[in-house]
Amino acid sequence: MRTINTVAEWLRYEQEEKLSQKRVGFVPTMGALHNGHQSLIEKSIQENEVTVVSIFVNPTQFNDKEDLKKYPQSHDEDVDVLSRFNVDVLFYPEYPEIYPDDFNYKISEQSFSKKLCGASRPGHFDGVLTVVMKLLNIVKPHRSYFGEKDYQQLLLIRDMCVAFFVSTEIIGCPTVRDDDGLALSSRNKLLSVTDRKKASLFPKLLKSEKNSGDVIRELEKEGITVDYIEDIDSRRFGAVYFGNVRLIDNVPVPK
Ligand code: AMP
Repeated sequence: MRTINTVAEWLRYEQEEKLSQKRVGFVPTMGALHNGHQSLIEKSIQENEVTVVSIFVNPTQFNDKEDLKKYPQSHDEDVDVLSRFNVDVLFYPEYPEIYPDDFNYKISEQSFSKKLCGASRPGHFDGVLTVVMKLLNIVKPHRSYFGEKDYQQLLLIRDMCVAFFVSTEIIGCPTVRDDDGLALSSRNKLLSVTDRKKASLFPKLLKSEKNSGDVIRELEKEGITVDYIEDIDSRRFGAVYFGNVRLIDNVPVPK
């Protein structure tokens, strides 16, 4: 696996490897890789000649600086995982490489990004859309892989690519869950043992036939702080807090 840290180095690699003539799959991540990330990587490897994974903990999408400070990092393990999978390139840039403008320019979506996670994390999706646009402009992949676990993000990125004529195919991949149903997330590592046990109630109630109001009441009865549970267009979205660890999930609206 080749590790590339700068845009200039990427451009050289792209030329040397004649990437414009190859199928390139791209999996953007913030590291602390788990089986959810690995499912995206496997799909990209199956469907493309070259797979590029980026690891970049994007500061502009963290509205809470404490949340950014404690975001899990496990770089050595991540490199082991990517090498084991035979990923072709790890793109691992630092902030100035991605933000030469220091976030003076940004992509803003005006409606859906203000709802759900966007309502409680102001500016979050500006950061997400901006970094994804920058990464897509650098890597120029044929296909890009995103998890349904972050469904609102997936929809916003898909629509952004249409709006800005970005010619990559956005591929949504199913949510990978632990045995008890909790969606895998880098943030799960931050849960206490007691909270981790309790956390399985979140997907269980989300999938139940109760209406969203009853799901909120049930979660709160169990002492879980709810940010939102909302049904939009046949999808049920939810976000909860365990202490200051925020977990999100979504399922088709149960019938
Ligand atoms: P992150 O590193 O959390 O920014 O995630 C990088 C990519 O992995 C995003 O497209 C996520 O939606 C996806 N992802 C994260 N967790 C899961 C999961 N449990 N199942 C499937 N995809 C996931």
